[in-house]
Amino acid sequence: MFDKILVANRGEIALRVIRAAREMGIRSVAVHSTADADAMHVRMADETVCIGPPSSSESYLSIPAIIAACEVTGAQAVHPGYGFLSENANFVQIVEDHDLTFIGPSAEHIRIMGDKITAKDTMKALGVPCVPGSEGGIADVAAAKALCAEVGYPVIVKATAGGGGRGMKVARDEGELERAFLTARSEAKAAFGNDEVYIEKYLTTPRHIEVQVFGDGKGRAVHLGERDCSLQRRHQKVLEEAPGPCITDEERARIGAICADACANINYRGAGTIEFLYENGEFFFIEMNTRLQVEHPVTEAIFGVDLVREQIRVAEGLPMSFTQEELAINGHAIEVRINAEKLPDFAPRPGTITQFHAPGGLGVRMDSALYDGYRIPPYYDSLIAKLIVHGADRDTALRRLARALGELIVDGVDTTVPLFHALLQEEDIRSGNYNIHWLEHWLETNLRE
Ligand code: ADP
Repeated sequence: MFDKILVANRGEIALRVIRAAREMGIRSVAVHSTADADAMHVRMADETVCIGPPSSSESYLSIPAIIAACEVTGAQAVHPGYGFLSENANFVQIVEDHDLTFIGPSAEHIRIMGDKITAKDTMKALGVPCVPGSEGGIADVAAAKALCAEVGYPVIVKATAGGGGRGMKVARDEGELERAFLTARSEAKAAFGNDEVYIEKYLTTPRHIEVQVFGDGKGRAVHLGERDCSLQRRHQKVLEEAPGPCITDEERARIGAICADACANINYRGAGTIEFLYENGEFFFIEMNTRLQVEHPVTEAIFGVDLVREQIRVAEGLPMSFTQEELAINGHAIEVRINAEKLPDFAPRPGTITQFHAPGGLGVRMDSALYDGYRIPPYYDSLIAKLIVHGADRDTALRRLARALGELIVDGVDTTVPLFHALLQEEDIRSGNYNIHWLEHWLETNLRE
Protein backbone atom coordinates (compact mmCIF):
# COMPACT_ATOMS: atom_id res chain seq x y z
CA MET A 1 0.00 0.00 0.00
CA PHE A 2 1.33 3.47 -0.88
CA ASP A 3 1.80 5.86 2.07
CA LYS A 4 2.41 8.89 -0.08
CA ILE A 5 1.84 9.90 -3.68
CA LEU A 6 2.97 12.92 -5.63
CA VAL A 7 0.52 14.71 -7.89
CA ALA A 8 2.34 16.04 -10.97
CA ASN A 9 -0.35 18.56 -11.94
CA ARG A 10 -2.26 21.65 -10.82
CA GLY A 11 -5.79 23.07 -10.68
CA GLU A 12 -8.97 21.05 -10.32
CA ILE A 13 -7.42 17.74 -11.40
CA ALA A 14 -4.69 17.99 -8.75
CA LEU A 15 -7.45 18.51 -6.15
CA ARG A 16 -9.37 15.56 -7.57
CA VAL A 17 -6.39 13.25 -6.99
CA ILE A 18 -5.55 14.69 -3.55
CA ARG A 19 -9.16 14.09 -2.46
CA ALA A 20 -9.13 10.45 -3.61
CA ALA A 21 -5.79 9.84 -1.90
CA ARG A 22 -7.00 11.35 1.39
CA GLU A 23 -10.08 9.12 1.41
CA MET A 24 -7.76 6.13 0.94
CA GLY A 25 -5.53 7.21 3.85
CA ILE A 26 -2.66 8.10 1.51
CA ARG A 27 -0.67 11.31 2.04
CA SER A 28 -0.33 13.62 -0.94
CA VAL A 29 2.48 15.81 -2.21
CA ALA A 30 1.60 18.82 -4.37
CA VAL A 31 4.18 20.30 -6.71
CA HIS A 32 3.83 23.84 -7.93
CA SER A 33 5.45 26.62 -9.91
CA THR A 34 6.24 29.97 -8.30
CA ALA A 35 3.08 31.34 -9.99
CA ASP A 36 0.98 28.76 -8.12
CA ALA A 37 2.32 29.29 -4.59
CA ASP A 38 -1.20 30.36 -3.47
CA ALA A 39 -3.07 27.75 -5.48
CA MET A 40 -5.76 25.58 -3.90
CA HIS A 41 -3.96 22.30 -4.67
CA VAL A 42 -0.98 23.59 -2.69
CA ARG A 43 -3.22 24.49 0.26
CA MET A 44 -5.02 21.17 0.19
CA ALA A 45 -2.07 18.74 -0.08
CA ASP A 46 -0.25 17.27 2.93
CA GLU A 47 3.15 18.41 1.64
CA THR A 48 4.27 20.79 -1.08
CA VAL A 49 7.37 21.32 -3.19
CA CYS A 50 8.05 24.32 -5.41
CA ILE A 51 9.51 22.89 -8.63
CA GLY A 52 10.29 25.93 -10.74
CA PRO A 53 9.29 29.20 -12.39
CA PRO A 54 5.86 29.88 -13.98
CA SER A 55 6.64 28.47 -17.42
CA SER A 56 5.28 24.88 -17.61
CA SER A 57 8.36 23.68 -19.46
CA GLU A 58 10.45 24.58 -16.41
CA SER A 59 7.98 23.36 -13.78
CA TYR A 60 5.04 21.01 -14.45
CA LEU A 61 6.86 19.53 -17.47
CA SER A 62 10.27 19.34 -15.81
CA ILE A 63 10.99 15.64 -15.33
CA PRO A 64 14.15 16.16 -13.20
CA ALA A 65 12.29 18.55 -10.88
CA ILE A 66 9.42 16.10 -10.39
CA ILE A 67 11.69 13.11 -9.77
CA ALA A 68 13.70 15.20 -7.29
CA ALA A 69 10.45 16.17 -5.51
CA CYS A 70 9.61 12.46 -5.13
CA GLU A 71 13.04 11.76 -3.67
CA VAL A 72 12.93 14.68 -1.25
CA THR A 73 9.45 13.82 0.06
CA GLY A 74 9.67 10.04 -0.12
CA ALA A 75 6.61 9.77 -2.38
CA GLN A 76 6.33 6.25 -3.78
CA ALA A 77 4.10 6.94 -6.76
CA VAL A 78 3.20 9.71 -9.20
CA HIS A 79 -0.27 10.57 -10.47
CA PRO A 80 0.02 12.69 -13.64
CA GLY A 81 -3.59 13.94 -13.93
CA TYR A 82 -4.36 14.90 -17.54
CA GLY A 83 -2.28 17.07 -19.87
CA PHE A 84 1.34 17.89 -18.88
CA LEU A 85 3.28 14.59 -18.50
CA SER A 86 0.26 12.25 -18.47
CA GLU A 87 0.92 10.77 -21.91
CA ASN A 88 4.70 11.05 -21.97
CA ALA A 89 6.15 7.53 -22.29
CA ASN A 90 9.66 8.80 -21.59
CA PHE A 91 8.50 10.22 -18.25
CA VAL A 92 6.91 6.88 -17.30
CA GLN A 93 10.17 5.10 -18.09
CA ILE A 94 12.18 7.52 -15.96
CA VAL A 95 9.71 7.23 -13.05
CA GLU A 96 10.06 3.43 -13.16
CA ASP A 97 13.85 3.61 -13.50
CA HIS A 98 13.82 5.48 -10.17
CA ASP A 99 11.85 2.66 -8.51
CA LEU A 100 8.74 4.78 -8.32
CA THR A 101 5.27 3.76 -9.53
CA PHE A 102 3.52 5.61 -12.34
CA ILE A 103 -0.23 5.68 -11.69
CA GLY A 104 -1.32 4.93 -15.24
CA PRO A 105 -0.62 2.58 -18.14
CA SER A 106 2.76 1.17 -19.16
CA ALA A 107 5.23 3.27 -21.16
CA GLU A 108 4.74 0.85 -24.05
CA HIS A 109 0.97 1.38 -24.23
CA ILE A 110 1.37 5.15 -23.99
CA ARG A 111 3.90 5.03 -26.82
CA ILE A 112 1.68 2.88 -29.06
CA MET A 113 -1.42 5.05 -28.57
CA GLY A 114 0.54 8.31 -28.76
CA ASP A 115 1.36 7.64 -32.39
CA LYS A 116 -1.98 7.73 -34.17
CA ILE A 117 -0.94 5.46 -37.04
CA THR A 118 0.43 2.77 -34.72
CA ALA A 119 -2.66 3.20 -32.54
CA LYS A 120 -4.97 2.65 -35.51
CA ASP A 121 -3.02 -0.38 -36.73
CA THR A 122 -3.08 -1.87 -33.23
CA MET A 123 -6.81 -1.28 -32.79
CA LYS A 124 -7.62 -2.63 -36.22
CA ALA A 125 -5.71 -5.81 -35.43
CA LEU A 126 -7.68 -6.09 -32.16
CA GLY A 127 -10.99 -5.94 -34.03
CA VAL A 128 -11.90 -2.31 -33.33
CA PRO A 129 -13.67 -0.59 -36.29
CA CYS A 130 -11.63 2.33 -37.72
CA VAL A 131 -12.32 5.31 -40.03
CA PRO A 132 -11.46 4.30 -43.62
CA GLY A 133 -8.25 5.90 -44.85
CA SER A 134 -4.55 5.47 -45.47
CA GLU A 135 -2.60 2.49 -44.20
CA GLY A 136 0.14 4.35 -42.38
CA GLY A 137 1.66 7.72 -43.26
CA ILE A 138 1.39 9.47 -46.62
CA ALA A 139 4.73 10.52 -48.12
CA ASP A 140 3.78 13.09 -50.74
CA VAL A 141 0.98 14.85 -52.61
CA ALA A 142 0.91 12.25 -55.41
CA ALA A 143 0.37 9.44 -52.92
CA ALA A 144 -2.29 11.51 -51.16
CA LYS A 145 -4.16 12.07 -54.44
CA ALA A 146 -4.08 8.40 -55.36
CA LEU A 147 -5.43 7.40 -51.95
CA CYS A 148 -8.19 10.02 -51.89
CA ALA A 149 -9.39 9.01 -55.34
CA GLU A 150 -9.95 5.58 -53.80
CA VAL A 151 -11.41 6.63 -50.40
CA GLY A 152 -13.56 9.44 -51.85
CA TYR A 153 -13.86 13.08 -50.78
CA PRO A 154 -14.14 14.85 -48.39
CA VAL A 155 -11.01 13.75 -46.50
CA ILE A 156 -9.13 14.97 -43.43
CA VAL A 157 -5.33 15.12 -43.27
CA LYS A 158 -4.15 14.48 -39.70
CA ALA A 159 -0.81 14.62 -37.88
CA THR A 160 0.44 11.24 -36.64
CA ALA A 161 1.74 12.92 -33.50
CA GLY A 162 -1.37 15.14 -33.21
CA GLY A 163 -3.30 16.22 -30.17
CA GLY A 164 -5.45 19.08 -28.94
CA GLY A 165 -7.13 19.42 -32.33
CA ARG A 166 -3.96 20.72 -34.04
CA GLY A 167 -2.47 19.63 -37.36
CA MET A 168 -5.80 18.66 -38.98
CA LYS A 169 -6.97 19.94 -42.36
CA VAL A 170 -10.05 19.07 -44.40
CA ALA A 171 -10.04 18.80 -48.21
CA ARG A 172 -13.46 18.79 -49.90
CA ASP A 173 -12.14 17.87 -53.34
CA GLU A 174 -8.91 17.16 -55.20
CA GLY A 175 -8.39 20.90 -55.77
CA GLU A 176 -8.09 21.44 -52.01
CA LEU A 177 -5.93 18.42 -51.30
CA GLU A 178 -2.43 19.73 -52.02
CA ARG A 179 -2.91 22.76 -49.82
CA ALA A 180 -4.50 20.73 -46.97
CA PHE A 181 -1.69 18.19 -47.15
CA LEU A 182 1.12 20.74 -47.08
CA THR A 183 -0.50 22.88 -44.36
CA ALA A 184 -1.20 19.91 -42.10
CA ARG A 185 2.39 18.78 -42.57
CA SER A 186 3.95 22.13 -41.73
CA GLU A 187 1.61 22.62 -38.74
CA ALA A 188 2.50 19.17 -37.49
CA LYS A 189 6.20 19.90 -37.83
CA ALA A 190 5.83 23.18 -35.92
CA ALA A 191 3.58 21.83 -33.17
CA PHE A 192 4.97 18.32 -32.63
CA GLY A 193 8.39 18.28 -34.29
CA ASN A 194 7.14 15.44 -36.51
CA ASP A 195 5.68 16.12 -39.94
CA GLU A 196 4.22 12.70 -40.64
CA VAL A 197 0.56 12.88 -41.64
CA TYR A 198 -2.12 10.36 -42.59
CA ILE A 199 -5.48 10.66 -44.28
CA GLU A 200 -8.97 9.65 -43.22
CA LYS A 201 -12.38 9.86 -44.80
CA TYR A 202 -13.96 13.03 -43.39
CA LEU A 203 -17.29 12.19 -41.80
CA THR A 204 -19.74 15.03 -42.33
CA THR A 205 -22.31 14.62 -39.55
CA PRO A 206 -20.80 12.35 -36.89
CA ARG A 207 -21.13 12.46 -33.13
CA HIS A 208 -18.07 12.11 -30.92
CA ILE A 209 -18.69 9.06 -28.78
CA GLU A 210 -15.96 7.78 -26.47
CA VAL A 211 -15.86 4.59 -24.43
CA GLN A 212 -14.36 4.58 -20.93
CA VAL A 213 -12.25 1.49 -20.36
CA PHE A 214 -10.40 0.22 -17.32
CA GLY A 215 -7.87 -2.60 -17.05
CA ASP A 216 -5.97 -4.28 -14.22
CA GLY A 217 -2.81 -4.76 -16.31
CA LYS A 218 -3.15 -8.51 -15.91
CA GLY A 219 -5.59 -9.38 -18.65
CA ARG A 220 -8.87 -8.24 -17.08
CA ALA A 221 -10.65 -5.19 -18.45
CA VAL A 222 -14.10 -3.64 -18.34
CA HIS A 223 -15.92 -0.82 -20.08
CA LEU A 224 -17.95 1.88 -18.35
CA GLY A 225 -20.18 2.86 -21.23
CA GLU A 226 -19.82 5.91 -23.39
CA ARG A 227 -19.76 9.69 -23.18
CA ASP A 228 -21.09 11.94 -25.93
CA CYS A 229 -18.66 14.84 -26.40
CA SER A 230 -19.98 16.17 -29.70
CA LEU A 231 -20.38 19.75 -28.49
CA GLN A 232 -16.98 21.06 -29.53
CA ARG A 233 -15.40 24.35 -30.52
CA ARG A 234 -12.25 24.04 -32.64
CA HIS A 235 -12.14 20.30 -31.88
CA GLN A 236 -12.14 21.07 -28.13
CA LYS A 237 -14.90 19.67 -25.92
CA VAL A 238 -17.27 22.15 -24.27
CA LEU A 239 -20.04 19.97 -22.76
CA GLU A 240 -20.08 16.21 -22.21
CA GLU A 241 -22.81 13.82 -21.21
CA ALA A 242 -23.30 10.17 -20.32
CA PRO A 243 -24.89 8.00 -21.45
CA GLY A 244 -24.91 9.17 -25.08
CA PRO A 245 -28.43 10.40 -25.96
CA CYS A 246 -28.44 8.45 -29.24
CA ILE A 247 -26.76 5.21 -28.15
CA THR A 248 -28.95 2.16 -27.54
CA ASP A 249 -28.27 -0.46 -24.86
CA GLU A 250 -27.40 -2.96 -27.61
CA GLU A 251 -24.92 -0.59 -29.27
CA ARG A 252 -23.32 0.17 -25.89
CA ALA A 253 -22.96 -3.51 -25.05
CA ARG A 254 -21.49 -4.28 -28.47
CA ILE A 255 -18.91 -1.47 -28.75
CA GLY A 256 -18.16 -1.70 -25.02
CA ALA A 257 -17.32 -5.39 -25.28
CA ILE A 258 -15.07 -4.76 -28.31
CA CYS A 259 -13.18 -2.07 -26.35
CA ALA A 260 -12.91 -4.08 -23.14
CA ASP A 261 -11.69 -7.15 -25.05
CA ALA A 262 -9.06 -5.07 -26.87
CA CYS A 263 -7.76 -3.74 -23.52
CA ALA A 264 -7.80 -7.18 -21.91
CA ASN A 265 -5.88 -8.53 -24.89
CA ILE A 266 -2.97 -6.12 -24.48
CA ASN A 267 -3.00 -6.24 -20.62
CA TYR A 268 -3.91 -2.55 -20.47
CA ARG A 269 -3.54 -1.04 -16.98
CA GLY A 270 -5.65 1.73 -15.52
CA ALA A 271 -8.08 4.19 -17.08
CA GLY A 272 -8.28 4.79 -20.82
CA THR A 273 -10.65 6.27 -23.34
CA ILE A 274 -11.26 4.90 -26.80
CA GLU A 275 -12.62 7.68 -29.00
CA PHE A 276 -14.96 7.10 -31.92
CA LEU A 277 -16.87 9.06 -34.47
CA TYR A 278 -20.40 7.69 -34.71
CA GLU A 279 -22.52 8.08 -37.82
CA ASN A 280 -25.56 6.17 -39.10
CA GLY A 281 -25.28 3.53 -36.40
CA GLU A 282 -21.59 2.83 -37.06
CA PHE A 283 -18.57 3.45 -34.82
CA PHE A 284 -15.21 4.53 -36.27
CA PHE A 285 -12.12 4.58 -34.01
CA ILE A 286 -10.11 7.83 -34.11
CA GLU A 287 -7.75 7.64 -31.14
CA MET A 288 -7.13 6.30 -27.63
CA ASN A 289 -6.25 8.50 -24.67
CA THR A 290 -4.15 6.63 -22.14
CA ARG A 291 -5.11 8.69 -19.10
CA LEU A 292 -7.94 10.06 -17.01
CA GLN A 293 -10.05 12.48 -19.09
CA VAL A 294 -11.31 15.91 -18.09
CA GLU A 295 -14.86 14.58 -18.51
CA HIS A 296 -14.45 11.43 -16.35
CA PRO A 297 -16.90 12.70 -13.68
CA VAL A 298 -19.98 12.07 -15.85
CA THR A 299 -19.01 8.40 -16.00
CA GLU A 300 -18.35 8.34 -12.25
CA ALA A 301 -21.80 9.83 -11.65
CA ILE A 302 -23.79 7.29 -13.63
CA PHE A 303 -21.80 4.24 -12.49
CA GLY A 304 -21.22 5.35 -8.88
CA VAL A 305 -17.48 4.60 -9.04
CA ASP A 306 -14.33 6.55 -8.14
CA LEU A 307 -12.01 6.19 -11.14
CA VAL A 308 -9.02 7.85 -9.43
CA ARG A 309 -9.26 5.48 -6.46
CA GLU A 310 -9.40 2.63 -8.94
CA GLN A 311 -6.31 3.95 -10.79
CA ILE A 312 -4.39 4.03 -7.51
CA ARG A 313 -5.56 0.51 -6.60
CA VAL A 314 -4.45 -1.13 -9.82
CA ALA A 315 -1.15 0.78 -9.74
CA GLU A 316 -0.54 -0.93 -6.39
CA GLY A 317 -1.23 -4.28 -8.03
CA LEU A 318 -4.67 -4.71 -6.40
CA PRO A 319 -7.56 -6.12 -8.41
CA MET A 320 -10.28 -3.82 -9.79
CA SER A 321 -13.07 -3.38 -7.26
CA PHE A 322 -15.84 -4.12 -9.80
CA THR A 323 -16.64 -6.64 -12.50
CA GLN A 324 -18.42 -5.90 -15.78
CA GLU A 325 -21.59 -7.52 -14.43
CA GLU A 326 -21.59 -5.25 -11.37
CA LEU A 327 -21.39 -2.08 -13.45
CA ALA A 328 -24.85 -0.67 -14.09
CA ILE A 329 -25.92 2.74 -15.35
CA ASN A 330 -27.98 4.88 -13.02
CA GLY A 331 -29.52 7.99 -14.58
CA HIS A 332 -27.88 10.67 -16.69
CA ALA A 333 -24.99 13.10 -16.09
CA ILE A 334 -23.83 16.28 -17.85
CA GLU A 335 -20.61 18.26 -17.42
CA VAL A 336 -19.93 21.80 -18.59
CA ARG A 337 -16.41 23.19 -18.82
CA ILE A 338 -16.25 26.68 -17.34
CA ASN A 339 -13.31 28.63 -18.71
CA ALA A 340 -12.00 32.08 -17.81
CA GLU A 341 -12.66 33.34 -21.33
CA LYS A 342 -14.57 36.21 -22.85
CA LEU A 343 -17.28 35.53 -25.41
CA PRO A 344 -17.78 35.71 -28.32
CA ASP A 345 -14.18 34.96 -29.28
CA PHE A 346 -13.25 32.90 -26.20
CA ALA A 347 -10.22 35.09 -25.44
CA PRO A 348 -8.48 33.96 -22.20
CA ARG A 349 -9.23 36.26 -19.27
CA PRO A 350 -6.96 35.54 -16.33
CA GLY A 351 -7.54 37.83 -13.35
CA THR A 352 -8.58 37.99 -9.72
CA ILE A 353 -11.72 36.24 -8.47
CA THR A 354 -13.54 38.78 -6.33
CA GLN A 355 -16.38 36.46 -5.38
CA PHE A 356 -16.90 32.74 -5.80
CA HIS A 357 -19.90 30.70 -4.78
CA ALA A 358 -20.21 27.07 -5.86
CA PRO A 359 -23.67 25.60 -6.46
CA GLY A 360 -24.76 22.63 -4.37
CA GLY A 361 -27.72 20.43 -3.59
CA LEU A 362 -28.81 17.04 -4.82
CA GLY A 363 -26.90 15.69 -7.81
CA VAL A 364 -24.51 18.64 -8.16
CA ARG A 365 -20.72 18.30 -8.19
CA MET A 366 -18.32 21.18 -8.65
CA ASP A 367 -14.69 20.34 -9.42
CA SER A 368 -12.82 23.60 -9.16
CA ALA A 369 -9.71 25.07 -7.56
CA LEU A 370 -11.21 28.57 -7.28
CA TYR A 371 -11.65 30.54 -4.06
CA ASP A 372 -12.46 34.15 -3.12
CA GLY A 373 -9.48 36.35 -3.92
CA TYR A 374 -7.71 33.73 -6.06
CA ARG A 375 -5.57 35.18 -8.81
CA ILE A 376 -5.80 33.07 -11.96
CA PRO A 377 -2.27 33.01 -13.39
CA PRO A 378 -1.97 33.74 -17.13
CA TYR A 379 0.42 30.86 -17.84
CA TYR A 380 -1.86 27.83 -17.95
CA ASP A 381 -5.09 26.39 -19.32
CA SER A 382 -8.19 28.58 -18.95
CA LEU A 383 -10.39 25.83 -17.43
CA ILE A 384 -11.41 27.10 -13.97
CA ALA A 385 -14.28 24.80 -13.04
CA LYS A 386 -16.23 21.76 -14.10
CA LEU A 387 -19.87 21.66 -13.11
CA ILE A 388 -21.30 18.16 -13.19
CA VAL A 389 -24.96 17.36 -12.62
CA HIS A 390 -26.59 13.97 -12.22
CA GLY A 391 -30.28 13.11 -12.36
CA ALA A 392 -32.65 10.20 -12.83
CA ASP A 393 -32.93 10.96 -16.55
CA ARG A 394 -31.65 13.43 -19.15
CA ASP A 395 -34.46 15.90 -18.66
CA THR A 396 -33.87 16.02 -14.89
CA ALA A 397 -30.13 16.50 -15.48
CA LEU A 398 -30.80 19.42 -17.87
CA ARG A 399 -33.12 21.12 -15.38
CA ARG A 400 -30.59 20.58 -12.63
CA LEU A 401 -27.86 22.09 -14.80
CA ALA A 402 -29.94 25.22 -15.36
CA ARG A 403 -30.68 25.44 -11.63
CA ALA A 404 -27.01 24.94 -10.63
CA LEU A 405 -25.72 27.45 -13.21
CA GLY A 406 -28.17 29.94 -11.71
CA GLU A 407 -26.64 29.47 -8.25
CA LEU A 408 -23.03 29.76 -9.42
CA ILE A 409 -21.22 33.05 -8.79
CA VAL A 410 -17.82 33.73 -10.37
CA ASP A 411 -17.07 37.45 -10.19
CA GLY A 412 -13.96 39.30 -11.27
CA VAL A 413 -13.28 37.58 -14.59
CA ASP A 414 -15.28 36.77 -17.72
CA THR A 415 -16.33 33.15 -18.03
CA THR A 416 -18.07 30.84 -20.49
CA VAL A 417 -21.10 30.49 -18.15
CA PRO A 418 -23.36 32.66 -20.39
CA LEU A 419 -22.76 30.21 -23.24
CA PHE A 420 -24.32 27.39 -21.20
CA HIS A 421 -27.33 29.47 -20.16
CA ALA A 422 -27.90 30.17 -23.85
CA LEU A 423 -27.37 26.57 -24.97
CA LEU A 424 -29.94 25.32 -22.46
CA GLN A 425 -32.58 27.37 -24.30
CA GLU A 426 -31.94 25.51 -27.56
CA GLU A 427 -34.39 22.84 -28.65
CA ASP A 428 -31.58 20.78 -30.23
CA ILE A 429 -29.72 20.68 -26.90
CA ARG A 430 -32.87 19.76 -25.00
CA SER A 431 -33.61 16.94 -27.42
CA GLY A 432 -29.99 15.81 -27.78
CA ASN A 433 -30.06 16.44 -31.52
CA TYR A 434 -26.52 17.64 -32.25
CA ASN A 435 -23.33 16.46 -33.95
CA ILE A 436 -19.68 17.60 -33.89
CA HIS A 437 -20.44 20.62 -36.12
CA TRP A 438 -23.55 21.85 -34.32
CA LEU A 439 -21.80 24.19 -31.87
CA GLU A 440 -19.59 25.86 -34.49
CA HIS A 441 -22.67 26.63 -36.59
CA TRP A 442 -24.56 27.88 -33.56
CA LEU A 443 -21.69 30.14 -32.51
CA GLU A 444 -21.50 31.55 -36.04
CA THR A 445 -25.16 32.55 -36.04
CA ASN A 446 -25.68 33.45 -32.40
CA LEU A 447 -22.49 34.96 -31.07
CA ARG A 448 -21.38 37.05 -34.03
CA GLU A 449 -21.53 40.70 -33.09
P1 ADP B 1 -6.89 15.32 -31.28
O1 ADP B 1 -6.01 14.22 -30.75
O2 ADP B 1 -6.12 16.46 -31.85
O3 ADP B 1 -7.96 15.74 -30.32
P2 ADP B 1 -8.76 13.55 -32.73
O4 ADP B 1 -8.28 12.54 -33.68
O5 ADP B 1 -9.19 13.07 -31.39
O6 ADP B 1 -7.63 14.69 -32.58
O7 ADP B 1 -9.94 14.39 -33.36
C1 ADP B 1 -10.50 15.51 -32.69
C2 ADP B 1 -11.81 15.92 -33.33
O8 ADP B 1 -11.61 16.23 -34.73
C3 ADP B 1 -12.89 14.86 -33.31
O9 ADP B 1 -13.61 14.83 -32.10
C4 ADP B 1 -13.74 15.34 -34.48
O10 ADP B 1 -14.51 16.45 -34.09
C5 ADP B 1 -12.72 15.81 -35.51
N1 ADP B 1 -12.31 14.70 -36.43
C6 ADP B 1 -11.22 13.90 -36.32
N2 ADP B 1 -11.18 12.97 -37.32
C7 ADP B 1 -12.27 13.19 -38.10
C8 ADP B 1 -12.83 12.55 -39.27
N3 ADP B 1 -12.24 11.51 -39.86
N4 ADP B 1 -14.00 13.05 -39.77
C9 ADP B 1 -14.63 14.11 -39.19
N5 ADP B 1 -14.16 14.74 -38.09
C10 ADP B 1 -13.00 14.30 -37.53
